[in-house]
Amino acid sequence: MMPQLQAVAPAPVTDALGRPLRDLRISVMETCNYRCPYCMPEGTVDEMALGAKQRLEFSDIAQIAQAFVANGVRKIRLTGGEPLLRRNLPELIGLLKRIDGLEDLALTTNGSLLAAQAHALRQAGLDRITVSVDALDETLFRHMSGGRGSLSQVLEGIAAAERAGFGPIKINCVVQRGLNESQILPLFEFFKNRGHVMRFIEYMDVGSCNGWRSDEVVPVSEILACLQSRYELTPMAPAAPGEVAARYAVSGGGEVGFIASVSAPFCGDCNRARLSVDGKLFTCLFASAGFDLKPYLRSAERLSTEIGALWRHRTDRYSEIRHAADARKKIEMFFIGG
Ligand code: SAM
Ligand code: SF4
Ligand code: SF4
Repeated sequence: MMPQLQAVAPAPVTDALGRPLRDLRISVMETCNYRCPYCMPEGTVDEMALGAKQRLEFSDIAQIAQAFVANGVRKIRLTGGEPLLRRNLPELIGLLKRIDGLEDLALTTNGSLLAAQAHALRQAGLDRITVSVDALDETLFRHMSGGRGSLSQVLEGIAAAERAGFGPIKINCVVQRGLNESQILPLFEFFKNRGHVMRFIEYMDVGSCNGWRSDEVVPVSEILACLQSRYELTPMAPAAPGEVAARYAVSGGGEVGFIASVSAPFCGDCNRARLSVDGKLFTCLFASAGFDLKPYLRSAERLSTEIGALWRHRTDRYSEIRHAADARKKIEMFFIGG
């Protein structure tokens, strides 16, 4: 059982570059039922799967989350891998919802299993949901899921999430040169008309197994120009400090966001920590190693002190120094939560 949860609303701990700790991503499942070529290409990752034994228990995740909240975290996002492959996920959501001081609990999913789970996730207290959809063309969608996904299944999942009370739903699309530029306008129009919000993401050099090449990145400036050829877009002020998406209001209603992590890095405001499925803290998406928090699980106070100390020493700013960074092996994104 988790120890008694206390009311905590402390000022956030700040890192060596003055950035507060505000946001935590938790990978609850390192494996996935898709093999998106930009994340986990077919044939490259099965041997990396951890297996159930090394995954943190829900009570441990909740204890670690509580220690992060004690250090300033206000938002938690559950992700993976594919988080909806983790059995009994609503149980974890229920535990996290009980943490005083946590203001927002969200989840990112590929949507393939959402139709059956949306209601239970909402009932358990999940606040928000993001679904990844890279194409509206069924054949292209399937290709971009590594030959495994079904667009109609994902759209059913989104409809079930709407019925369960989620909304507006964010829809993530990674745009990769030569693959899905043709889908930018159709995706934007389809989801805007249903009251949802597209987030277009530059293809990033996360991990090592995707064979990233800079000429496959479609810069946000190009995606923006594509939408502006049809719509009037007005920049919006950030909703929260450290927000990674540049948001625009769409004339006639709705909004759209762009995540330019390659062409316009935002390390200066990065307030995000990541917890891997096996209990390691990563202070950057591009880190090559994490700090094992498991040894401190027996003492809530020690756990909180260690997390604070690790964050205070943080100097990561990979995206800003990308070209000068060494060619070290980076951790895969699905392992520490996208
Ligand atoms: N499986 C879930 C999903 O796909 O939504 C959650 C995990 S996934 C790693 C989280 C997000 O990271 C997804 O929206 C995915 O498109 C994005 N992503 C994965 N690899 C990426 C890459 N190389 N560049 C940019 N975004 C990426
Ligand atoms: Fe799976 Fe998400 Fe990675 Fe695609 S992006 S392989 S759905 S974890
Ligand atoms: Fe944050 Fe690292 Fe991404 Fe920079 S590169 S924004 S420090 S996660």
